Amino acid sequence: MKQSKTLIPTLKETPADADTSSHKWLLRAGYIRQNFSGVYSFLPLGKRVLDKIEAIVREEMDNIGANEVLMPALQSADLWKETERWDKMGEELIRLHDRHGREFVLGPTHEEIVTSLIRDEVKSYKKLPLTLYQIQTKFRDERRPRFGLLRGREFIMKDGYSFHDTDEGLDQGYQEMYQAYCRIFERLGLNFRAVIADSGAMGGKDTHEFMALAEVGEDTIAFSTESDYAANIETAEVLDIYEVSTEEQKPLAKVETPNQKTMQEVADFLNHSLDQGMKSLLFKVDEDYVLVVTRGDHEVNEIKLKNHLHAKEVTLVDEEKSLELMKTGFGSLGPIGVSDEIKVICDLAVRSLANASCGANEDGVHYINVNPSRDLPDVEYADLRFIKEGDRSPDGKGIIKFTEGIEIGQVFKLGKFYAEKLGANYLNQQGKAETVTMGCYGIGISRVMAAIVEQYHDDKGITWPTHLAPYQIHLLVLNHKKAEQRELADQIYQQLTEAGFEVLYDDRDERAGVKFADSDLIGIPYRITVGKKASDGIVECKIRQSNEQDERHESELLDYFRELF
Ligand code: ATP
Ligand code: MG
Repeated sequence: MKQSKTLIPTLKETPADADTSSHKWLLRAGYIRQNFSGVYSFLPLGKRVLDKIEAIVREEMDNIGANEVLMPALQSADLWKETERWDKMGEELIRLHDRHGREFVLGPTHEEIVTSLIRDEVKSYKKLPLTLYQIQTKFRDERRPRFGLLRGREFIMKDGYSFHDTDEGLDQGYQEMYQAYCRIFERLGLNFRAVIADSGAMGGKDTHEFMALAEVGEDTIAFSTESDYAANIETAEVLDIYEVSTEEQKPLAKVETPNQKTMQEVADFLNHSLDQGMKSLLFKVDEDYVLVVTRGDHEVNEIKLKNHLHAKEVTLVDEEKSLELMKTGFGSLGPIGVSDEIKVICDLAVRSLANASCGANEDGVHYINVNPSRDLPDVEYADLRFIKEGDRSPDGKGIIKFTEGIEIGQVFKLGKFYAEKLGANYLNQQGKAETVTMGCYGIGISRVMAAIVEQYHDDKGITWPTHLAPYQIHLLVLNHKKAEQRELADQIYQQLTEAGFEVLYDDRDERAGVKFADSDLIGIPYRITVGKKASDGIVECKIRQSNEQDERHESELLDYFRELF
């Protein structure tokens, strides 16, 4: 492609709203343009990269026998009401209606549509298992669209769905998809990890997220220093390995703690360490109120709480409500003597505390010498806290460390949740009606493009892995006005293009400095520069990632690139 004939609007300055490396470089190098917050156009270079990513995904999906389909973005609200996601998805779901007042949604994902398709078209076990996938545009009214392609309101996803007649079949389908995802992300050159993820309280069992490691990642991954254990901290289990204190139990006593509100203030005032205090937080869990107690140095993980109680919604109550229910503000909440209306649950670490302190449910008063085995005989214990760096790994091997990641994909054993809601039944071998069981599998195609740029850039621009770059070779003619340069460049362009290479030819009437800067920005892996030595047939070849450069005779180029690709 001749650069004079395409649209690559590079920018000298970084746009003010570009908040991550990928956002900045994709804008500056002319791959994408924002239409409005969270919505982008892919320009010619961006479209070429998308196509290459999609080709790899399609190949690996086809390899495991998945079938490509294309389902609509515009979906009837009725299906979403049947699965109750019309309510559950809240404001993230984009809703609209037609001229007759009928309601629709712009699909954020396709479980409803695909399950209704299977319900209508698959009537016998003979058709199972079946895996369908598509590469298609999704819509989500994200609370905070940001980071360019990483969190958009309109984005491209590969979503796949497998349908099975047995749990073993689902396990196998899940494994095959998991392996295919590993191959896809390896082929995309991403530094990634598959991590155990949260499957929620409603239906569904196993699930893994695939995380591209990157500083801008919005997810935190807990991993072991000595094994391949890795989990999203949302879900990472904490081992119950606390040693029960052998300290002699002292008598429970109340002490005045005027104006000591935070855990640290109380600990300092009572002259003990943070982990000798008990922290109590009051939550509204669906229609009930629950007091959750952790050690002073631990944080409540609301997802674990929600899952433990099989709840739909968990929110921290405000101080006013705390005063109404517990007769005390946040600073002095505690689990001793709480009325029966409020359930108390303690994190596992609380059980082994000895002579600890906690709020006494009177403003400015705390209990000291609290011994849970004696003073909280009836409370429930559960794993409710976030894992911390330095904790033992849940698989018993090594110590936990944290790293940041971008969720690029997820595989999920959904089970029968959607099939039951939508009545997707088939006849088994005995002619009896059964409900299908299913898995769902997503890859954020446009997010992947940004994740690759997060991992492949330097201070001049993008440094694409060879097979994902929009073109393989960037051919520059330094002085377009000089006939010998122009003629040699034209000849090389024709020769390489005819040999099947993808060449972007900078034939513009621009200064050499502009051409070099744009070339570095765009990040095509190999560059040929035709300059002063054109009359001798000598050109300069440069590798974008390593900066290696050398001179070659134009007659060697074909063999050189044939060897490289
Ligand atoms: P997140 O937790 O980041 O919001 P999610 O878990 O809601 O993502 P899924 O429903 O699992 O996302 O969607 C499958 C894939 O689609 C994700 O793994 C991610 O790569 C991609 N994706 C999700 N939301 C967005 C978005 N707003 N913009 C771009 N890609 C997205
Ligand atoms: Mg996800």
